[in-house]
Amino acid sequence: MIYLVVPCYNEQAVLESSDKQLQSILTGLPADIKILYVDDGSTDKTWSIIQANQRTAPDIVHGIRLAHNVGHQTALLAGIETCVDMAEAIITLDADLQDDIQVIPRMIEDFYEGIDVVYGVRRARTSDAFLKRWTAQVFYRLQSLMGCDTIFNHADFRLMSQRAAKALLSYPERNLYLRGLVPLLGFHTKIEYYDRLPRMQGNTKYPVRKMMALALDGITSFTTRPLHWILIVGFVFVLISLCVIVWALVSRLKGRTIEGWTSLLISVWFVGGCLLLALGIIGEYIGKVYAESKHRPRYHVMETTY
Ligand code: UDP
Ligand code: MG
Repeated sequence: MIYLVVPCYNEQAVLESSDKQLQSILTGLPADIKILYVDDGSTDKTWSIIQANQRTAPDIVHGIRLAHNVGHQTALLAGIETCVDMAEAIITLDADLQDDIQVIPRMIEDFYEGIDVVYGVRRARTSDAFLKRWTAQVFYRLQSLMGCDTIFNHADFRLMSQRAAKALLSYPERNLYLRGLVPLLGFHTKIEYYDRLPRMQGNTKYPVRKMMALALDGITSFTTRPLHWILIVGFVFVLISLCVIVWALVSRLKGRTIEGWTSLLISVWFVGGCLLLALGIIGEYIGKVYAESKHRPRYHVMETTY
C-alpha cells in the first residue's frame, strides 16, 4: 500500500480537477494506492470538496482536517504521521499538481528496487515567475554555502519508504524544514528529474512572507556556521590589531602623528577585535546549546541481521 499525501490550503480552485487527475493515474500503477488529503485549516470549501471526493471513491480517498493553519511543512508531517503505519511508502506532493504526476510511477518503481527516498528534482524552472525562480536559486546556493546538505532544486515532491518516514518522524523539532531533514536520514536515495508545470488555477499559497520564513528556517535550523564565522572574523581582527599596534607605535616614535591618534587607533582595533572574538566564542557555545536542544536522533538503523 502506497499513500499519496497532499496538503491543501484554500485549494478549492484546483482540488476537484487534481483529484480526477490523480485518480486517473492510479489505475495503471503496480501498487495499491490511497490518497490522503490534509486540509491545513482552509477557510474556503476545501474540506467539503475533500469530503465529496471521499464519498465518490471511499476506498481510495481519505482526508484529515487540521484545526488551524499550521503551514505546508507541518501539514505534510501530519499527513505522514497519519498514514505511516499503514503505508509501505509515502509520496508527498502539492495539491496544485505543479509537480509532474507522471513521475509517480517511476518513483514507485525505484521504491520496489529498494530505494528509500526518491527526490523529485526540477529540471528547469521555466514555469516559475522570474522573481520566484531567481530568489529560489539564490537561496539554494546560499544554503549550500552555509553548509546545509540539501538537494538542489528539490522541493517537497518525494517518495519515502516506511522506515525512512518513521526515521523522519523521530525528529522532534518544531521549526520544520523537511528539505533539510530528509537528507539527514541517509538510507538509499535516488533523484528523479521532472519539469515543473505552471499552476493551473488559484494563487500561490506561498506569499513572500511565508517564503522568507521557510528560507530562514532552512538556514537557521540546520547550521550554526554564521556564528562560527564571527569567531573567525574576531581572530582576523585581533591579528590585524597587532599589526596596527606596531605600526601606530612606530609612527608615534617617528613623531609623524598628532596627539591622541595612537591610543585611539590602537583601542579601536584591539577592543573591536576582542569584542568580536568574545562574541564568536559565546556563539560557539550557543551553537552547541542549540544543537543539543533539538534532541535530534543520533542515528538510524537501516538493517539488522538478527
Ligand atoms: N500549503 C499548505 N499550507 C500553507 C500553505 C500552502 O498546506 O499554509 C500547501 C498548498 O495547498 C499546496 C502546497 O502547500 O498544496 C504548495 O503551495 P503552493 O503551490 O501555493 O506553493 P508554490 O508552488 O507557489 O511554491
Ligand atoms: Mg504550487
